[in-house]
Amino acid sequence: MGVFEAIASDTHEEVLYGHDPMSGLRAIIAIHSTALGPALGGTRFYPYASEEDALCDALRLAKGMTYKSAAAGLDLGGGKAVIIGDPSTIKTERLLRAFARVIDSLGGRYVTAEDVGTTTADMITIASETEWVTGLPLVHGGSGDPSPATARGVMGAMRAVAEYLWGSDDLSGKTVAVQGVGKVGASLVERLTKQGAKTIVADVNAAAVTEMVAHHGSVTVGVDEIFDVDCDIFAPCAMGGALSESTVDRLRCQAVVGSANNQLETEAQADQLVEQGILYAPDFVVNAGGIINIADEFQNYDWKRAITAIDQISDNVHQVLETARRRGIKPTTAAIEMAEERISSIGSINLKRRGHAS
Ligand code: NAD
Repeated sequence: MGVFEAIASDTHEEVLYGHDPMSGLRAIIAIHSTALGPALGGTRFYPYASEEDALCDALRLAKGMTYKSAAAGLDLGGGKAVIIGDPSTIKTERLLRAFARVIDSLGGRYVTAEDVGTTTADMITIASETEWVTGLPLVHGGSGDPSPATARGVMGAMRAVAEYLWGSDDLSGKTVAVQGVGKVGASLVERLTKQGAKTIVADVNAAAVTEMVAHHGSVTVGVDEIFDVDCDIFAPCAMGGALSESTVDRLRCQAVVGSANNQLETEAQADQLVEQGILYAPDFVVNAGGIINIADEFQNYDWKRAITAIDQISDNVHQVLETARRRGIKPTTAAIEMAEERISSIGSINLKRRGHAS
C-alpha cells in the first residue's frame, strides 16, 4: 500500500518523515486528528523490520490515541511517533535532539511522551529542543511514570464491570488472571491484592513473576497456560494482539479488562467474545489513566486533580456497557460511537474557537 493510500484509508491529517543522517535518525510522526486539540501520543523506538511496518504502526497507534483521548473526555487529538532502530544501540543525545526538532517544526500540532523504547529521561533530552513534550519526571514539573495511573484506571474499570455483572463493585474474593506483570500489571496486582482479590500471573520475565508471588501471594502459571485458567476476569497487560481466535477460544473467564493497547487481534474477536458470553471492556476506555494523568501536565500537574479525572474511567466503562446493553450492540461499537460523537460535537466547537469555521 502506498503512503497516501495508507493515510487516506483512516483519514489521518498528516504524516511527517524526519531524518538526521549524522545520528541515523529515521522517524515518522503520524497525526490522526487534531479536532479536539493537539495530537498527543508517545514516541515508540523500535527496530521495525521495514519502513512500511513503521508507518503502519504509527498510523494505527495515532488513530487509537484519537479514540482513547476522546472517550476519556480530554481536549486532545491523536498522534504517535515512531523512531526506526534498536534504542539500545542507536539512541544518542544527538538523535533525540534531532528528533525533537522535527516535533518542534509541527508547532504544537503533535505533542510527544514516552512509549515502548523511550523513557522519562529521554523526554528531558527532547525538552531541551522543544516545548511540545509531556511525561517528564516529577522533579521536572511533569507527571512522571504514567503506569500507576493506568493501573488505577484499570481497577476502576474492573469495579464497573463487577457492578454490571455481579451487582456489586466489590472485587474481594474474585480471581483475576493477569498476563504480564510489568509496570502496569505489577501495580494492578498490588491493588487487586489490597482489595482482597486473588491473582494468577504469567510473564516471560521470571523475576517479575517471583516478585508477585513473594509480595502479593499470586499464583503463577506458564505464559501459554494463562489463557486456560479458571478466573472471573482476564487482564491482558502485556503486548497487543493477545486475544486471537485461538486464545479467546480457550478463555474461562466472565470478563476481559486489561491495560494492553489493541488487545483484539482483529475485530472478529469482539464478536467471538460476545458469542462465548465474555464481557469485553474496550481497551482504549479502560487504559486511559496514563493519558489522563499526562494531560494534566497542560495545567501545572496536580496528582489529586489527575486522580479525580482518572476515577471517571469507571463511569465511562459503565456508560459504554449500559449503552451496549440498551441498544443490543457490542461494547467496542458503543465505545467507538461515544468517542466519535465527542469528536464531532466538541470538535466543531474547537474549530470555531480557533477560527477555522464559520
Ligand atoms: P511493561 O513493558 O512494563 O510490561 C509488559 C510486561 O509484559 C513485561 O513484564 C513483559 O515481560 C511481559 N510480557 C511480554 N510478553 C509477554 C507474554 N507473551 N506473556 C506474558 N508476559 C509478557 O509495559 P507496561 O507499561 O506495563 O504496559 C503494559 C501494556 O499496557 C502494554 O501493552 C502497553 O502498551 C499498555 N499501556 C501501558 C500504559 C502505561 O501507562 N504504562 C498506558 C496505556 C497502555
